[in-house]
Amino acid sequence: MEKVRAKKHLGQHFLNDKKIAEDIVDSLIHKDKYKDVLEIGPGMGVLTQFLTKKEDFLTWVVEIDRESIAYLKKNYSDQLNGRIIEGDFLRLKLEDLFTGNFAVIGNLPYNISSQIFFKILEYRDRIPEAVGMIQKEVAERMAAKHGNKTYGILTVLIQAFYDIEYLFTVHEHVFIPPPKVKSGVIRLTRNSRGKLPCEEKLFFTVVKQSFSTRRKTLRNCLKALNLPAEMMSEPQFDLRAEQLSVNDFIDLTVRIENIRKSI
Ligand code: SAH
Repeated sequence: MEKVRAKKHLGQHFLNDKKIAEDIVDSLIHKDKYKDVLEIGPGMGVLTQFLTKKEDFLTWVVEIDRESIAYLKKNYSDQLNGRIIEGDFLRLKLEDLFTGNFAVIGNLPYNISSQIFFKILEYRDRIPEAVGMIQKEVAERMAAKHGNKTYGILTVLIQAFYDIEYLFTVHEHVFIPPPKVKSGVIRLTRNSRGKLPCEEKLFFTVVKQSFSTRRKTLRNCLKALNLPAEMMSEPQFDLRAEQLSVNDFIDLTVRIENIRKSI
């Protein structure tokens, strides 16, 4: 481990605590719902060593760093037998890799964790469960309920389709090199919501737009949508985005869509 030189731009902070690694792997609990698990950014395999011991699923790994890939091929070729993918998770065509459902796990590169969750959202009907270690603040934000200060765009978009649990905090000193921030482990479990009762693109737009100016009312943030003055004068538009639940955002989008159709 001492010889490992982390590449900062790849968000490399290697976990150096086996017990925590095992706890993260054991946080996958809905194993009846998938046959494959994809680990993002295995690095030197601290999670991989526990994943490959599980008999409930087949482990796959995707890693962008050539040195890590060389290490994994040397040490995990037998266990991973052709399931080591060299490349960028964000560019992976997951439908070409898996025919059925799969779970996602990883001590994620923090600089691209939001993009990773947006990709999970894209494939949500194939990903029943995901476990990830990310920056603590981001983990808390994703698990936040409305009314909470940290509740934001990613919170609403993810929680529309996943139940989020904040599982535990991991301190910086168990990493090599230690990151500047604390980490948090979260579990995403696909909820029962199928298709939204409104256009998904419009839902995303309404959510993003509502949070566009923090601490401003919806009336202020949603000006660009050119809604009828009568609607904009309703009390709901006095609220700020963080006061709306996921269902409130869906209801609001349904109304906006209907109004647009009727114009
Ligand atoms: N899981 C390991 C390493 C975590 S650091 C551990 O816990 O010790 C994050 C890892 O993600 C690094 O190995 C880094 O090379 C890898 N990585 C960064 N960007 C990636 C991407 N776009 N796709 C796949 N892996 C990536």
